[in-house]
Amino acid sequence: MSQYQPPLRDMQFVLHELLGATQELKSIAAHADIDADTINAVLEEGGKFASEVILPLNGPGDAQGCRLNPSTHEVTTPDGFKKAYEQYVAGGWPSLSCDPEFGGQGLPFVVNQCFYEMLTACNQAWTMYPGLSRSAYECLHTHGTPEQKELYLPRLTTGEWTGTMCLTEPHCGTDLGMLRTKAAPLPDGSFALTGQKIFISAGEHDIASNIIHLVLARLPDAPAGSKGISLFVVPKFKVQADGSLGERNAIHCGALEHKMGIHGNATCQMILDGAVGTLVGEPNKGLAAMFVMMNAARLGVGNQSLGLTEVAYQNALAYAKDRIQMRSLSGPKALDKPADPILVHPDVRRMLLTAKAYAEGGRALVSFCALMLDKELHHPDESVRKECAELVALLTPIVKAFLTDNGFEATNTCLQVFGGHGYIREWGMEQFVRDARINMIYEGTNTIQSLDLLGRKVLGNQGASLRKFGKMVAALVQEASADPAMAEFVQPLATLGSQVTPLTTELGLKAMQNPDEVGAAAVDYLRVIGHLVFGYFWARMAQVSLKAMATGNKDPFYASKVQTARFYFARLFPETAMLTARLRVGSASLMDTEAALA
Ligand SMILES: Cc1cc2nc3c(=O)[nH]c(=O)nc-3n(C[C@H](O)[C@H](O)[C@H](O)COP(=O)(O)OP(=O)(O)OC[C@H]3O[C@@H](n4cnc5c(N)ncnc54)[C@H](O)[C@@H]3O)c2cc1C
Repeated sequence: MSQYQPPLRDMQFVLHELLGATQELKSIAAHADIDADTINAVLEEGGKFASEVILPLNGPGDAQGCRLNPSTHEVTTPDGFKKAYEQYVAGGWPSLSCDPEFGGQGLPFVVNQCFYEMLTACNQAWTMYPGLSRSAYECLHTHGTPEQKELYLPRLTTGEWTGTMCLTEPHCGTDLGMLRTKAAPLPDGSFALTGQKIFISAGEHDIASNIIHLVLARLPDAPAGSKGISLFVVPKFKVQADGSLGERNAIHCGALEHKMGIHGNATCQMILDGAVGTLVGEPNKGLAAMFVMMNAARLGVGNQSLGLTEVAYQNALAYAKDRIQMRSLSGPKALDKPADPILVHPDVRRMLLTAKAYAEGGRALVSFCALMLDKELHHPDESVRKECAELVALLTPIVKAFLTDNGFEATNTCLQVFGGHGYIREWGMEQFVRDARINMIYEGTNTIQSLDLLGRKVLGNQGASLRKFGKMVAALVQEASADPAMAEFVQPLATLGSQVTPLTTELGLKAMQNPDEVGAAAVDYLRVIGHLVFGYFWARMAQVSLKAMATGNKDPFYASKVQTARFYFARLFPETAMLTARLRVGSASLMDTEAALA
C-alpha cells in the first residue's frame, strides 16, 4: 500500500508564515476569531481521517471499480467506500466550510481546500463523491431560490445527499452550445427533462440516500447555442415539501464508462426520461449559473493534482532512500552496502525535486486562491471583494491547467523513480499517473483553460487583471532587492515580469490580424504565466525561510524550502525561455499544414 504523511508542517508554513491567513481573515466578521491553533487542529484531524480511513481503500477501490446492476440501474461502489462515507458524514466533515444558516460549521474555505488536498492525495476516486456535492452546494447557494435552498442545502451540508453536474452529452463536451436535453414546462411550474448525459461523475452510487443532479437543458423556446441553455435541479428521489424523500424520479444510470483511472468513481451515462426538475436561476442563463459550480470545480481539480503530486513524491522519496542500485559517480556513499541508494544519482534527485517543487508551489497558490475566495465572498468592503474576485478569476485557469499538467508530469517522474517497479501495480505508482490524467481533461480541457486565460482574462480586459498581479511581483522584487541572498530568486522573476507585458501586447496585436494566433499561443502562454505565479510564490517562500534562518532558527524545514526554491528557479523556471521563443513564432507552422495533415 502507498504511504502518506499529511503535509501539515508545510500547510502551517503556507497558511501562517507565508500568507498570514488568520490576519487576512480578521476583517471578515464570521472568521475574525479563528486562530492558527484551531486551523491546525482541524487539519490534523482531517489528515488522520484521510490517511487512516480512505487511503487503505485507494488501491483496492481501483482494482475492484464500480458495478452497475442493469436491471435496477443501481451502482455499487467498491468495498469500504460506503462505510468510509458514513464515517465522513458522522465526523461532520462535509459541513466544514458550509454556511451556518444551513447547518454548516462556517470555517474558512481555505481550511476546506487544505483538507481536500489530503483527501485527494489518499483517494481521488472516493473524494470526487463529496467533492462534486460541494460544488453543487456552491451553485445552489448562489443561484437557488429560497425554496430550493431550504430543500437541498441542509442535506448537502450534512452530506446525507450528494450532488452532480450534468453538462456533457455524446455530441458535445467543450461546445455546450450544441446540447440537446429538453426541459418541457409542467403545469405546477416544474419541468420535465428528457435527454442523455454522458461521463457524469458520481451520477449513481450507493453511498448516500439521494443524489441532487444539476442539469443543463433547453427550454422549448430557447435560442440556439449557448444563449439558450438553462439550469435545473433534478433529484434522484423527489423531495417532499417537508424534506422527506418521495418517489423515484425518471433519471437513471444507463451504463458505466470503462476508463483509464479513478475506477472507484462511477462515471455514468445518465438517461433522463421526463425527469422532474426545477429551474435554477433565470431561463437561458444556465451557463452563467453553472459557472459558479464549474469555477469551484476547477479550483478543486487543480487541488486534486496537488494531492496526487504530494503523495507520489512522498512514496518516490521513500523508495529512493531505500532502493540500492549502482554507485554514486562521485564515489561510494553507503560503504556498508553493496550499492548506494538511488537517491545519490543526480537525475533521481531531479525527478524528486520536480515533484516537490510542483507540490509546494501548488500548495501556496491553491491556498492563496482559497483565501482570496474567502475574501471575495465575505469581506465587508465591496472594493476588496471585487479586487479578490478579479484575482481569483485570473488565477483559476492557472490552478486548473498548470497544476494538473505539472501533476501528471510529477506523478510520471515519481513512477520513473521506481524503475520497472513503478510500472507494476503493487506499488501504487501507476495508479497515481492514471488518476492524474483525467484532471487535464475534465472541467474544461487544459487547452480551453488556456484560451480562457489568454483570450478572456488577459486580452479580454487589455491585461488589466494581469497587471495587478504584475504589481504584486514588482513589489516583491523591489522589497527583496536590498537582500543579496534573494537575488537568485528575484532576478529571474524580475526578468520574466518585464517580458510578459511586451509579449502579451505582441500576441494581442497578432491576434487582431489573425484570431488563430490566440489558439496557437494559448497553451504556452498559460505555462509562462503559471511560472510567473509559481516564481512569485517560490520567491516569497524563500524570503520567509531565509528570514527565519537569519534569526538563528535551525528547523531544517527552512533549509529544505530554500534548496527547493533554488532548484525551482535553476531547473524548472527556465522553461519560460523556450516557451517564450515558441510563443513568438506565430501560428503559421501550425496552420499552414494542409499537406502535413492531409
Ligand atoms: C472520467 C470523466 C469524468 C467526467 N465527469 C464529468 C461530469 O461530472 N460532468 C460533466 O458534465 N462532464 C464530465 N466529464 C466530461 C468532460 O468534462 C469532457 O470530456 C471535457 O469537457 C471535454 O469534452 P469532450 O470529451 O467532448 O471533448 P471535445 O470537446 O470533443 O474535445 C476534443 C479535443 O478538442 C479540443 N478542442 C475542442 N474545442 C476546442 C477549441 N475551441 N480550441 C482548441 N481545442 C479545442 C479539446 O481541448 C480536446 O483536446 C467527464 C469526463 C470524463 C472522462
